[in-house]
Amino acid sequence: MAVSFDLTGKTAIVTGANTGLGQAIAVALAGAGADVALVGRSSMADTEAAVAKAGGGRSLSIQADLSTLEPVERVISETVDWTGRADILVNNAGIIRRADAIDFTEADWDAVMDVNLKTVFFLSQAFARQLIGKGERGKIINIASLLSFQGGIRIPSYTASKSGLAGLTRLLACEWAGKGINVNAIAPGYFSTNNTEALRNDPDRNAAILGRIPAGHWGEPEELGGAAVFLAAPASDYVHGIVLPVDGGWLAR
Ligand code: NAD
Repeated sequence: MAVSFDLTGKTAIVTGANTGLGQAIAVALAGAGADVALVGRSSMADTEAAVAKAGGGRSLSIQADLSTLEPVERVISETVDWTGRADILVNNAGIIRRADAIDFTEADWDAVMDVNLKTVFFLSQAFARQLIGKGERGKIINIASLLSFQGGIRIPSYTASKSGLAGLTRLLACEWAGKGINVNAIAPGYFSTNNTEALRNDPDRNAAILGRIPAGHWGEPEELGGAAVFLAAPASDYVHGIVLPVDGGWLAR
């Protein structure tokens, strides 16, 4: 049997696809042939144009604020209404709040946990229900973090959410592998996006981070696409419950 990275005929849902890593993942999946539902609270115009340019699958924008569970069922139903299917879910949308642990507020705790963990779980549940109901295979890819493995500083709710996401990935893999759903995660290292702008603008933190990355540069969002295509494609059908670092070697140090 030939190894396949082809996503033709598949439909993917990518949350937070308007910018950064989510945009790069959406473009990579479309380039591999998937139709991609771009889910988020901001305009998807840039990503729609990039998907069209990639020349593979089509895109559909779905407006949704993922800080509550209100849009969960709608995201799945609007996707299925569009192409008749939803095969791949990339839980990418995420936020970060920075403050010393000693000063951290309940609001910053709840906001991060709601987007990064709670909505991820219930969107995954809705996605899995429609697949299991039809007896079809599927793939869930959670965007974790190096903070799924390490502590970090000044980001208590973010570290808790991403460490929790690694655990959730393993639990869902254990429950759903036998039902034909692969649940895995990608742990991006330090990538140039809005999420890391504060770090890159701080000369000391920027130098310290760069000095620890064996590859010698901040990741560019496009450098994440290959891992996403792999975990979405038939090539990874026997891969369950992993958290795959794409980090320029950071964790190897
Ligand atoms: P980003 O801030 O550019 O993108 C975050 C995305 O999430 C945006 O599309 C944003 O609109 C969306 N989002 C946030 N809150 C939302 C809400 N309530 N409803 C709908 N969409 C919402 O940052 P990014 O770096 O591209 O982050 C993408 C994912 O990658 C996040 O989960 C982040 O934690 C993770 N990550 C990033 C890095 C990095 O170095 N950039 C490293 C590890 C993990």
